[in-house]
Amino acid sequence: MHADTLSTFEDLGLSAPLLRAVAAEGYSTPTPIQAKAVPHVLAGRDLFGCAQTGTGKTAAFALPIIERLLASPKPRSPRRCRVLVLAPTRELAGQIHQSFVAYGRHAGLKAAVIYGGVGQRPQANAMMHGVDVLVATPGRLLDLVGQRLVDIRSSEVLVLDEADRMLDMGFIHDMRKIVAMLPRDRQTLLFSATLPAEVRELAESMLREPLEVKTTPQATSAETVSQSVWFVEKKEKKSLLVRLLQDGGMSRVIVFARTKHGADKLHRDLDKAGIPAAAIHGNKSQNQRERALAAFKSPRPPVLVATDIAARGIDVDDVSHVVNYELPHEPETYVHRIGRTGRAGQTGEAVSLCDREELPRLRAIERLIRREISAQNEAPAESRSESQTESRNTGGQPRPSSHERPPQRRSRRNGQRGGRPQGHGRQDDRRQGDHSSRRSDARPVAAAASAEQGRAPAPVERKQPKKYRRAL
Ligand code: AMP
Repeated sequence: MHADTLSTFEDLGLSAPLLRAVAAEGYSTPTPIQAKAVPHVLAGRDLFGCAQTGTGKTAAFALPIIERLLASPKPRSPRRCRVLVLAPTRELAGQIHQSFVAYGRHAGLKAAVIYGGVGQRPQANAMMHGVDVLVATPGRLLDLVGQRLVDIRSSEVLVLDEADRMLDMGFIHDMRKIVAMLPRDRQTLLFSATLPAEVRELAESMLREPLEVKTTPQATSAETVSQSVWFVEKKEKKSLLVRLLQDGGMSRVIVFARTKHGADKLHRDLDKAGIPAAAIHGNKSQNQRERALAAFKSPRPPVLVATDIAARGIDVDDVSHVVNYELPHEPETYVHRIGRTGRAGQTGEAVSLCDREELPRLRAIERLIRREISAQNEAPAESRSESQTESRNTGGQPRPSSHERPPQRRSRRNGQRGGRPQGHGRQDDRRQGDHSSRRSDARPVAAAASAEQGRAPAPVERKQPKKYRRAL
């Protein structure tokens, strides 16, 4: 049967314990990636699944994996696992683990999760008698393997989630060590929203006659997310952000900063402006991250200021807005960021603040997503004309702006696809310590608001396009 005609979980060939679990999760029909991937995984094929975040890709691999485990039961061996799932961050590893637990609850499945930043003893204890599924971040996994507390040599299945991250420079050494320990005749599944050319070759070397399943063309932005950009001078970004947040309409917002330091500073700035905020990044302890996420999921969420690394694995269904306070160096990262909103078929908005130096990054993003991001104000003329002949949706008359000053010489890093974002590297870092204070739950303070408004940059005062006015 063709994948597109498989419209129920029964059609996919899942057995009763899984059907019960899926029903308990409230899933009525398989998502496209599930309909396409599940039959191949069940057949034991290697797979490269190209699906955007929020498309149900975890169940796309977890359900058929559990089904295969059920079909060939084996006694557990101490410290071993039958399935190894690797993910780049603690949050994502934790969520994948929870998904396996939920989907495997009627199948007698035993799963464990291993990541850095917390004590290793409970993790080693969980592995003592062996598990069916082990979800791990690479660094801590290697630590425990080195101490002979975990043995991955008999893993029958390897899954790499967010494979683009797992195979890039931050993880590649750990990945090579891990893969060298695994049996050659394993089943390997790679899932990623994007697959930059430089990691594709490496990915292919790990797979045997892989099938490629895609639900959308590579790296197109989630269709449910409407995207816009404000052109603004760097020094004016903060006041523009404050205005956008204070103008309302943004009920649950993630603001992306490029660096941990930048995220902390923004957190403090929002605090000063009377806007409740929380920060989440790699230097926060597991407890602090969990607290920030819990607050973010609450009915009156603070603005979540996040770095890219920490944001992976944030699975909150009704994020109304993603704000790119700074554009990422790697265009693929933009796709991941905006995928935090518009999840599970809901609509969402992504707003980017782009300063002069970031224009080449914006163009790289537009090339990747193969569309122009709707402009809220006029772009600096010189830079736009370099790559685009069409005029943008300006939504008003030209703005006398400092952008119209003669362009400065562009920094050498700009536009380089290969440049790594700052702070990028070993991502399941175990660093602790945080200098941030807990946020007050107060609503924006009028005095602070007007002070900020006094300094607000020109763009927000201008007539806005209809779509955006509605959002505000
Ligand atoms: P993922 O892409 O795996 O992060 O999943 C995104 C969200 O979709 C999660 O909240 C899942 O619980 C949810 N989900 C996964 N499969 C389905 C389905 N078949 N129907 C409805 N929701 C689903």
